[in-house]
Amino acid sequence: MAKKKTHAWYAFRRTLPPWRFDELLKELTQQLPRYGVDEVIIKVDTEEFFHGQPPLGWMKNYQKLLFRIKKEMDRIGVVFSINPWITVGHCDRGRDSRKIVPGLRTMVGHDGVECMTCACPIDPVWRKHVAKVWRLYAETKPHVIWIEDDIRTFGHRPIQYGCFCPLHMKAFSDRVGKTVKREELVAAIVKPGRPHPWRKVWLDMQGELMADTVGFLAKTVHAVSPETRMGLMSSNPVNHCMEGRKWRDFAAALADGKPLYSRPPMGNYSEGELRGFYYSHNSIKATRYCLPDGVIEQTEVENVPFTKYANSVNFTFVEMAISFAFGSHGVTMNLFDHCGTPMQADPEVGAMLGAKKPFLDGLAKKAQQPGSYRGVRLLHHDRSSYVKRLAKGDEYGRLAEDGYPMMQALETLGIPTTYEASNVVAAAGQTLRTYSDAEIREMLSGGLLLDGAAARVLIERGFAKEIGLKDASPLVPMDSLGAWSAEEFFNAKFGGKQQNFMSSRMPGLSGNPSISLLKPLPKTQIVSRLVDPDAKPGYPVMTACENSLGGRIVVHAWDFGNSFGKTFLNPIRQEQYQSIIRWLSRNKPAILVRGDSGGVYPLAFRKDCDGETLLGLFNLSLDPWPSVEYELTDTRKPLRLELLSPSGKWGASKLLRATKKGKQVVVRCKTTVPFDQPLFIRVIWKT
Ligand SMILES: [Zn+2]
Repeated sequence: MAKKKTHAWYAFRRTLPPWRFDELLKELTQQLPRYGVDEVIIKVDTEEFFHGQPPLGWMKNYQKLLFRIKKEMDRIGVVFSINPWITVGHCDRGRDSRKIVPGLRTMVGHDGVECMTCACPIDPVWRKHVAKVWRLYAETKPHVIWIEDDIRTFGHRPIQYGCFCPLHMKAFSDRVGKTVKREELVAAIVKPGRPHPWRKVWLDMQGELMADTVGFLAKTVHAVSPETRMGLMSSNPVNHCMEGRKWRDFAAALADGKPLYSRPPMGNYSEGELRGFYYSHNSIKATRYCLPDGVIEQTEVENVPFTKYANSVNFTFVEMAISFAFGSHGVTMNLFDHCGTPMQADPEVGAMLGAKKPFLDGLAKKAQQPGSYRGVRLLHHDRSSYVKRLAKGDEYGRLAEDGYPMMQALETLGIPTTYEASNVVAAAGQTLRTYSDAEIREMLSGGLLLDGAAARVLIERGFAKEIGLKDASPLVPMDSLGAWSAEEFFNAKFGGKQQNFMSSRMPGLSGNPSISLLKPLPKTQIVSRLVDPDAKPGYPVMTACENSLGGRIVVHAWDFGNSFGKTFLNPIRQEQYQSIIRWLSRNKPAILVRGDSGGVYPLAFRKDCDGETLLGLFNLSLDPWPSVEYELTDTRKPLRLELLSPSGKWGASKLLRATKKGKQVVVRCKTTVPFDQPLFIRVIWKT
């Protein structure tokens, strides 16, 4: 592994099926250096050609091929790692592994559906088998063994949520001291209203058993190859809440005392629209927040089904740039199929990887410096699913954590978000239920933005006065209140004006969003209100108050869970939101971003490092941004500005300008920003 230091670390995931092995191995050795690849992660028994739980005889033969790959990679200076395609299994696809592993206990879903291949992670028969298979992997001494995202208790086709097999039901019954049937337990978990006590017992148990499972895998590997690192592919943290994952315990068990690797999911497997990158970048930030410090991050850049029919080369490049801009240490790329098609069947992909490496390296070098991403703080809590209250008829999946639309709303409106400390916190849905009264009081003493659902939680908790309300009703569909046309952002103190109308048909024109009827206290200001078809004012929609704790609170009465979407977004909304963030932060917003003449869909960031700040803008629209303006708060003066060139060099530029008034620093860049050329600026501060 004596390689020169690369910042934009390329880890390449590739399958070499045994029936086309020699040709594909030769291609790897020829092409990886051209593509700028630093590490190869061999996927074993993958996708269409997988055998279910890998048969031991097949694995023993394939191990010989792994040794051959490793030898060749050592020769060309590429690091060798392994990614078994399954751990417990992603899906059955007609395979019945009970024939390969006699006595195998497969997973059972919450609805009683039973898998044929996906194994119950606590089954001793599966554990015995997987230990034999993983010892074979470990004998090849890979740098990292990646555990797939099938190491979870949801999404194993054909089941949705599980495992509720007899082994799991026995373990649960032991914990509660009586025999419990699956149907009884599931009904208790999704009971509407106040959570049934069994939900906690179940989530605790699942969390512990999954940590025990990854601990077992790590110990199996380390008994054979102590130097091999364990890598974790995960899913969106909001979903891991549903299985009681306590990330720190889980990570400690998997790391087994060594450095841990993390592969946050970027999604966007098949290019729908550029806006999918709001999910991707958030996945990096949220997963990092969940894990302990010191974890090595390599994002998952993947297109399925692995050709330009899924993701264009440009789209893949932007995804890689997002990975490095948000501070990841590398990208794991799953860009070619697992059917044995040579990589050079599409030479454009490899050519892009090689050509973009210097630019990404220049970006990564600065973005990987220690520091903090600034913006409005979002909330995540491992225990969100413990306390979430379900409504009658809610399905199991509603246990997932709320809050995602708040992230996308803010980012889209040019208000970057963070999971780190901030002078403004934003909460949507029921996430606040997880926090203690003291923690909530702390939030109430700063800037706090709430949607209608979050305001309801605080009313229930007795904080009505502190959020400027006498009361707020449970959420009701807007149409149940009669005929309402629009939200009028009218209050001039917040930058609004009469007849600033925004559609109230959200998230799309056929929508009927839920809203809480706010009853403001006398001193509370009304920022926006509903108007009827004659433009006559009605219910308040957005309120703002200062409370006795010294905090500033804005309530936006919509339920973001069903109101955020395309009709939520418009230029008036952007003004409204940037204005309230300025007010909530007492004129000290960490960062706001705008385009001169209407740039839309920014994905921007501010990272503060020692003596300098890195600014970035991805344009997630096909119209180029004509220019970019960042509004920052800082006590320091900018000394020098630098721009990242396409060749990866940082340097001064006539396009850049900074002005300072009080604590407000405005950085402007007079250049167009198309979607495939993200913009990166360094602000070096006077010390
Ligand atoms: Zn089970």
